[in-house]
Amino acid sequence: MRTHGHQMLDDMFDHLESLRQQPVWQAPPAAARARFHAPLPLGPSPLGDVHQQFLDDILPFSSGNAHPGFMGWVQGGGTPVGMLAEMLAAGLNANLGGRNHMAIAVERQIALWMRDLFGFPETAHGLFLTGASQANFVAVLLARHRALSTAPQAPLVAYTSQAAHGCIPRAFDMAGIGAQHLRRIATDAAGRMDTDALQAAIRQDQKGGLKPFMLIGTAGTVNTGAIDDLTALAAIASEHGLYYHIDGALGALGVCAPELAPLFAGINLSDSLAFDFHKWGQVPYDAGFLLTHDGAAQKAVFANEAAYLTRAEHGLAAGDLWPCDYGPDLSRGFRALKTWFTLKVYGLDALGASMAANCRLAAGLARRIEAEPELEVLAPVSLNIVCFGVRDDASGALNGRIIEALHAAGRVAPSLTLIDGRKAIRAAIVNHRTTEADIDALIDGVLLFARQLKGPAL
Ligand SMILES: *Cc1c(COP(=O)(O)O)cnc(C)c1O
Repeated sequence: MRTHGHQMLDDMFDHLESLRQQPVWQAPPAAARARFHAPLPLGPSPLGDVHQQFLDDILPFSSGNAHPGFMGWVQGGGTPVGMLAEMLAAGLNANLGGRNHMAIAVERQIALWMRDLFGFPETAHGLFLTGASQANFVAVLLARHRALSTAPQAPLVAYTSQAAHGCIPRAFDMAGIGAQHLRRIATDAAGRMDTDALQAAIRQDQKGGLKPFMLIGTAGTVNTGAIDDLTALAAIASEHGLYYHIDGALGALGVCAPELAPLFAGINLSDSLAFDFHKWGQVPYDAGFLLTHDGAAQKAVFANEAAYLTRAEHGLAAGDLWPCDYGPDLSRGFRALKTWFTLKVYGLDALGASMAANCRLAAGLARRIEAEPELEVLAPVSLNIVCFGVRDDASGALNGRIIEALHAAGRVAPSLTLIDGRKAIRAAIVNHRTTEADIDALIDGVLLFARQLKGPAL
């Protein structure tokens, strides 16, 4: 076991060291896929054989988000330190639902650090969840609870921008409020929520006898990285007594970089903030986080008195902080450990520097595109995301085919999005390993395939 373990560690170091020599992505062959339609194993297999199948059939066919050429969606690259911490966490096999053990103190440590980083008050609480989708959902539950405790009969209505992530309307469905009671406010030319339109929508709903109860701002929209005017939204929320939540899944940790922090002014004025360590924080999947202003109110929503969870004054069943009292999960893994290792070993400054470097690469990419007569930038670049495409490609069909060709070639992997209904190439620079060379490869690849594909097929 020990020998195999050391071998596994070496294999993963080799894998990480040689990322640049590997394709960012390659299609899993049918034969490898077929081996995952095997019968359920009743007896044992040698560890070495199973490890070998991992090396042969799984490792080479990952989605590629660790690779420096990966620019699709918004995905973190992970780090070797995070990998090692995951191994330690799995060895410990801690359950962070509650009880009196040190792992809880590690999660609490992260919460205290995040409280200070984001300027939240002493009363704040922090909770790991799978991702921002869950964190946003929990925030909707908190807001709903607050609203129903003051106005139990009122028909609730909430506000977010048209550029908000798809998990927000889904959270309203899951919370039983219904996505039809979430108003999608128009965005301005920079992709930020139009605050005049927001005010008008709130006033109209108030006149119609509805109860506006929640406002959700976005600190880094998924499509273009736009950041709402977080201070203006705070003032509007306060004027109308709305619960104010911010979805900072991809952007909020940008406060770690001094040159980016001013973009997030007002983030401390929210009632709650969702963000993902597994995106810009480079912590391995999964590590979502919810920071709330009022821990006591959160506990009142989620704590329950189940007999089998009875607390004690002393011993293992003691402990004044049981995370299961603050969210929907009882059994919870030790996401805090890989986050703690990442923050301690690299330090906040290095993480911030990597985010600032991503944004400089994005700005440089936008300049390169503007300088290419065949290409055009399709949305303002606010942070680390560049949406662009080939000129005179009204539907974006060519952009879609270029992306597929890039994926198949395996050097860089942007993703597809729609900008004003037109298919666009979207490069989200999130990985700390991405450099100028990868930006060059993206431009070169796009131009090459644009010329090749522009042939008779169009
Ligand atoms: C990624 C993302 C989400 C969803 O977060 P998960 O961690 O994938 O659940 C929500 N909002 C925004 C803006 C995102 O970028």
